[in-house]
Amino acid sequence: MNRLARRISRAIDTGGPLSIAAFMAMALHDREDGFYASREAIGARGAFVTAPEISQMFGELLGLWCVQAWRDQGAPRRAYLVELGPGRATLIQDALRAARLAPDFLGSIEVVLVEAGAAQQALQRERMRDAPVAIRWIEQWSAIASDRPIFVLANEFLDALPVLQFVMTERGWCERVITANGTRKLAFALAPDPTMLEIPNGRGAAEPGAVYEVSPASLALIDEVSGGIGRRGGAALFIDYGYCEGGFGETLQAVRQHKPADLLDAPGEADLSAHVDFAALARAAKSAGTEAHGPLSQGDFLRALGIEERAAELAARNPEHGTAIASAIDRLTGEAAMGKLFKAIAIVPRGAPAPPGF
Ligand code: SAH
Repeated sequence: MNRLARRISRAIDTGGPLSIAAFMAMALHDREDGFYASREAIGARGAFVTAPEISQMFGELLGLWCVQAWRDQGAPRRAYLVELGPGRATLIQDALRAARLAPDFLGSIEVVLVEAGAAQQALQRERMRDAPVAIRWIEQWSAIASDRPIFVLANEFLDALPVLQFVMTERGWCERVITANGTRKLAFALAPDPTMLEIPNGRGAAEPGAVYEVSPASLALIDEVSGGIGRRGGAALFIDYGYCEGGFGETLQAVRQHKPADLLDAPGEADLSAHVDFAALARAAKSAGTEAHGPLSQGDFLRALGIEERAAELAARNPEHGTAIASAIDRLTGEAAMGKLFKAIAIVPRGAPAPPGF
């Protein structure tokens, strides 16, 4: 048992079993031992490699996406460009570099980076020292002022938000929780009484053993972001891995140094994430009064934004990088890589033009 597991098990001894969401919050965000307390969580040396770390084209296209969405809404003179969970700040750097093509856009935005992890934030500050525009950091979305239109980018952010799981039993849906099991080893267990949470029944018949997974934090975030966009204008783009039509099943996973790991073995040493339920996000955006476009597969989305043309242009200018550029395209858009599993969804005010790519 590592240090964080010992602390979690003591917390269970005194306070009772933890929900999976509470466990995830500790394993990811504990200030000393949480996964994101390490500066090297993401990237070749970290647990996983994200799309912006694969190629500069990803962030560049997303930057131009924001410029176009901003123009489509009348090029407001004062707007926020927000990134949720900027990681190593690679995406925002590439986005701002591409946006230099639109000095009127750069002159109108204030960049706000939403980052909960102190170590990640310190790394971002270092890497953004020479940024071409003013940048502000906040720890959570709710700290943003809703006084102007908001253009939001979020890549692999929602998958890191906590989920709850419920298992169908003879007693009904019971929450899956984490206990210390008397043996001082963390283990999954079921709450003895059925949950009072209403489990949507549109997913087909639930046999005993079926698992329902939900991320209340993601739905609450989409509700808040959509509320801001509905009131003030703007647009949001969420890209993540996930599914369009949810059945029952569990997707929570641990990844340690690029390999699957046990969920409970060494909390804080592995990344924990769950697949995103895109249909639920679209419903949340609509019920908050905005329009949702997509989900589209990442491959289709990036091709619609012109990634192949951009790759050809880059390769013509840097022939020595031709093979690397072709392999990046394959990783980002290929069906066997990120092209199909990853999806993009956009949120815009009712009546606004469809955003680029959708
Ligand atoms: N978007 C980046 C990083 C993805 S990893 C990329 O594509 O490379 C997830 C990021 O979200 C990390 O920076 C992590 O510290 C941050 N994060 C995770 N949960 C968060 C939360 N609840 N609030 C704010 N930031 C969070």
